[in-house]
Amino acid sequence: MNAVKLLQKYKINVTDLRLLIIDEFIKSKDALCYDDFASKMNKTTFYRNIELFESNNLLLKIEINGKGYYKLNTGSNALFVCDICHHTKGIDLPKIDNLHINSVLIKGVCDECEEEE
Ligand SMILES: [Zn+2]
Repeated sequence: MNAVKLLQKYKINVTDLRLLIIDEFIKSKDALCYDDFASKMNKTTFYRNIELFESNNLLLKIEINGKGYYKLNTGSNALFVCDICHHTKGIDLPKIDNLHINSVLIKGVCDECEEEE
């Protein structure tokens, strides 16, 4: 799925900036936050577009310790979040018989934080 098709699918006007944002989400299996885009655009621009994507169900918002992280709403939204460094990692959605799961949030401690303890 490319960024242009994805925006069209959700009936969002295609702009260079939106393509740039969506491209980052397509490339990343992990959830992204404003920090990942800070070098490319200001906060207002970022959130204005993100809120549009969110209201169109293109992105899914995950709140971790009061901070907003976003992920493409691809139908397989399983995410691991480290309790210590808050790093997120996209994981395969678990398959459970007779249940249609849309999203999973798993919390724990990542390898790097585990080693420091
Ligand atoms: Zn960690």
